[in-house]
Amino acid sequence: MKESVLHYIWQYKLFASHLLQTTEGEPVEIIDIGKLNTDAGPDFFNAKIKIGSTLWAGNVEIHTKASDWYRHHHNTDTAYNNVILHVVKYADQKITRTDGEIIPQLILQYPERIETEYEKLISEKLWIPCADKIKKVPTIFISGWKNVLLTERLEQKMDSIMRLLSESNKHWEEAFYIILARSFGFGTNSQAFEILAKSVPLSILGKHKNDLFQLEAVLFGQAGFLTADLEDDYGLRLRSEYDFLSKKYGLVSMNKSQWKLLRLRPDNFPHIRIAQFAALIHNSTKLFSKIIEQPDIEYLRSLFKKIRPSGYWESHYTFGNKSVQKVKSIGEVSINSIIINTVVPFIFCYAHQKGKQDLKEKSISLLENLPAEKNAIVKGWSQLGLETENAYDTQALLQLKKFYCDEKKCLICRIGHKVLTLQT
Ligand code: SF4
Repeated sequence: MKESVLHYIWQYKLFASHLLQTTEGEPVEIIDIGKLNTDAGPDFFNAKIKIGSTLWAGNVEIHTKASDWYRHHHNTDTAYNNVILHVVKYADQKITRTDGEIIPQLILQYPERIETEYEKLISEKLWIPCADKIKKVPTIFISGWKNVLLTERLEQKMDSIMRLLSESNKHWEEAFYIILARSFGFGTNSQAFEILAKSVPLSILGKHKNDLFQLEAVLFGQAGFLTADLEDDYGLRLRSEYDFLSKKYGLVSMNKSQWKLLRLRPDNFPHIRIAQFAALIHNSTKLFSKIIEQPDIEYLRSLFKKIRPSGYWESHYTFGNKSVQKVKSIGEVSINSIIINTVVPFIFCYAHQKGKQDLKEKSISLLENLPAEKNAIVKGWSQLGLETENAYDTQALLQLKKFYCDEKKCLICRIGHKVLTLQT
């Protein structure tokens, strides 16, 4: 018997609520079950419970067996002194506070079917545990859940942005530059791009922003691509420039081996992405400030659409290997991905920190104006009948799959609640 099932039953008041009494036979009336606590300490805070003729306000702790109270050493922990009711499935022992006072206990009675259905649900080997039941859940109900999931996703991303911001001495432009660089790695080379951006401060690139050649020299040099075995004329000129600039600024390059090319399409090669990133720096000043001044989808797209790497990259994907002529601008899918995964979370985080509710809402509405992403997870949801209209929908469903379905957190999923209660 999982303790989380008892939490779920308590939280959604699925227990038999008539004729409740403590193990000592005193009548119990639940006025308020309290607020779920996901941090350390008792499971539910600020409950209101009438026991006998006394109304108590305090916390509720839930365990499968009463003796778990001692197993977890709550009897010696003052954080549990304000527990007013211990809710259990099996009352195998009386329990006490740190001063030895006995705490009332309630044996939770509930339909056994909830437990059985839950066990059945999480043992399913389908794409998601509720794959054969989700069609019964009304669409309107899922829409409400998507709002919560989307906000949760943006808040999770906010945590990593805040870490980066603190590393950047609260310099929003610098933090944005690093996170934007990360997005140019498109997953495979995101880590390498972050290392690259952190190895050369934005202030140094800013000094050379009017000279695309110098920007390329610094970025390719720092990335470790301007190695001694280069024979290509353009590469050699970049190296010579980098030798000078790296000495001037005391820069130390990363190791080339940190970049991955295997199984990448040539348009995604790190050389091309670095050249595009250099062109972005070349074309923009105080990029983040401009973005928050005008958080408009067409404007954002235009910032990335106009990027054109230097002429050399029109006929190369790597140094020294000629290819057919092609302008290596950033494709629409990539631009959307950068906006969805980097620009929107960054604006959301900034708006949250500065208390700008309007801007926060605008950041979310940007997702509603971007097309639905195409990937295996979105396809999986579509096969279950959950269609997506825009990036708002796809981001919410990605969150659901990764942080709920894959973790089998059906008991804290609103769809899971519906699925379990529809069957009881
Ligand atoms: S977490 Fe929710 S959507 Fe995912 S399988 Fe469980 S009940 Fe279904």
